[in-house]
Amino acid sequence: MTNLGAKGRPADNEGIRAEKIAFLVKGERFTMTCQLVLKRIEPVTHDTYHLVFDRPGGFEYSPGQGVELALLKDGWEDKGRAFTPVSLPHEPTLEFVIKTYPDRHGVTGQIGTMKPGDKVVMDGPFGAISDKGAGVFIAGGAGVTPMIALLRKRLHDHGTLEGSTLLFANKTERDIIWRDKFEAMQGLTTAFVVDEPGASVPQQRLDRDYLRQFVMADSHCYLCGPPPMMDAVRGALHDLGVKDAQIIEEEF
Ligand SMILES: Cc1cc2nc3c(=O)[nH]c(=O)nc-3n(C[C@H](O)[C@H](O)[C@H](O)COP(=O)(O)OP(=O)(O)OC[C@H]3O[C@@H](n4cnc5c(N)ncnc54)[C@H](O)[C@@H]3O)c2cc1C
Repeated sequence: MTNLGAKGRPADNEGIRAEKIAFLVKGERFTMTCQLVLKRIEPVTHDTYHLVFDRPGGFEYSPGQGVELALLKDGWEDKGRAFTPVSLPHEPTLEFVIKTYPDRHGVTGQIGTMKPGDKVVMDGPFGAISDKGAGVFIAGGAGVTPMIALLRKRLHDHGTLEGSTLLFANKTERDIIWRDKFEAMQGLTTAFVVDEPGASVPQQRLDRDYLRQFVMADSHCYLCGPPPMMDAVRGALHDLGVKDAQIIEEEF
């Protein structure tokens, strides 16, 4: 289990203004609560943003794990939501790719309006997805964020993603997060599918017949997305002979 460092150690970089508030112990895992200040926010797609914070001293996590973020803004402090760092643990920044749903009037709608200098409280890390080797990375919508973290880690560690495939489903082509970056990742096979007709990528569901082209019975399969997509893909993977032990998954 991850020990996030000595209790009470002061934030070790004044410049990043990250203030440790408390350590909590959840089960065997040490978790940490700290305050982050937004440095940069940039659009990724029409509804998705890349947020960059300085990484607080002492905060350790594994690529694929999530954290909870709550906005330090009147009326929002108690509304924590789960997000996945897409930066790597050795990097000086803590970065997120966050899809916003302004129509739901929830936290992500507020995130879309954030400005540099705005603050969040972070609690974590936690989560079920971790690197188990090369495999088939299957994502729906914002469920691609743990895949970003894992693929970046594997590329950093091995210099190539040879042997790995990303299958990424979205409603429309303009919803595809990081398409250029995935296509540029050395060795990675990519396949994007959408629900809409007339796109430059196939209008296609991630059903058994489609998955059969990419998945073998002994493949490691990483799976993350909305519950209905996860249920359908898990069933199709079972049909293709993939055992539960080979499916590394998290529901969004
Ligand atoms: C471990 C983990 C890691 C995650 N990492 C990321 C990440 O890195 N990036 C990312 O973008 N997302 C990530 N997510 C998903 C993210 O947590 C949710 O998108 C976020 O919680 C939504 O918060 P919200 O307050 O905007 O909306 P919600 O709290 O989901 O919704 C607000 C209200 O809108 C209504 N509503 C909810 N769902 C719907 C719907 N489908 N249609 C219509 N109305 C609805 C409900 O009334 C609800 O109370 C992660 C999730 C998990 C579990």
